[in-house]
Amino acid sequence: RPRVFSGMQPTADSLHLGNYLGALTQWVALQDTHDAIYCVVDLHALTVAPDPAVLRERTRRTAAQYLAAGVDPARSVLFVQSHVAEHAELAWVLGCLTGYGEAARMTQFKDKSAKQGAEGTTVGLFTYPVLMAADILLYRTNVVPVGEDQRQHLELSRDLAQRMNSRYGPLVPVPEAHIVREVAKIYDLADPTSKMSKSNGSVNGIIELLDDPKVIAKRIRSAVTDTGTEVRFDPEAKPGVSNLLTIHSALSGTPVAELEDRFAGRGYGHLKVEVADVVVEALTPLREAVEGWLAQPEKLDDVLAEGAERARAIARGTLGDVYDAVGLLPAG
Ligand code: ATP
Ligand code: MG
Repeated sequence: RPRVFSGMQPTADSLHLGNYLGALTQWVALQDTHDAIYCVVDLHALTVAPDPAVLRERTRRTAAQYLAAGVDPARSVLFVQSHVAEHAELAWVLGCLTGYGEAARMTQFKDKSAKQGAEGTTVGLFTYPVLMAADILLYRTNVVPVGEDQRQHLELSRDLAQRMNSRYGPLVPVPEAHIVREVAKIYDLADPTSKMSKSNGSVNGIIELLDDPKVIAKRIRSAVTDTGTEVRFDPEAKPGVSNLLTIHSALSGTPVAELEDRFAGRGYGHLKVEVADVVVEALTPLREAVEGWLAQPEKLDDVLAEGAERARAIARGTLGDVYDAVGLLPAG
């Protein structure tokens, strides 16, 4: 079976609807057809200088959300990035294959560094996509389910795989992106031209998986829409309304065209009420399952320890082959 790998950063207490629809639901589905490896990428989260106790707590909470959404440790390898030292080690080798200008072209770096300012921008933020390439190539990954925002980073991972293979002989497959067009980008409710984001979103524009149903309903009610009244899917002219239609359709399984017909002549208020119901209905069982996992931290840690052991076994093999190929002297 082809191998799938993906990860999310523990940069918030809760994942949001974009993470869920753009990535997590794909992860769960791909377990049926792929050899799946899923990771909480805590080393990546260090790029935003989190409080140590908060980072630890969020790492557990992120893993609990994967499990609650249906990542099954009996069928997938589920682990925490920092538990497998080979990620950072392969990242060094790949960093030595990455051009400075190539890394400087990454739009996520440009956006995030502009927000953090010159003082707050670290080398870690700059080399973030190199570590991401290491995560992926370490497991000889074939498929990477991500949202649209990660397309450029994945392109760099592909370039690095090809470069390494052509310089040192065949070492890793060139990974393919798995991006589901309909949900590739969920937008911020308060600013529907920006993506919903954990660390850069507006407070009122995010729907967190663990939000209280009342908060969810309120945020959807106050979602920014245009001044018209027609419920129509048109991301250019009506980004806010289109985002709500995308969310409804993805969670309810109702095609967008059918929703347009159903809400014809009824205005935005009706649409918002129904989207809120659909979201709350989908997220309530998820929230309860997360609480269940968080109530048993030892069981959660056991799952992660077992996952790390299985991941390490694969990672060691790849890193050994790479170290050997690039000419590092074997240790004793
Ligand atoms: P941060 O703001 O800290 O970067 P994030 O919300 O971008 O957080 P990540 O942990 O960076 O989340 O990404 C986790 C996964 O969620 C990735 O596969 C990413 O492509 C996907 N994703 C993130 N935001 C969205 C979005 N708005 N719509 C669809 N997918 C998304
Ligand atoms: Mg991100």
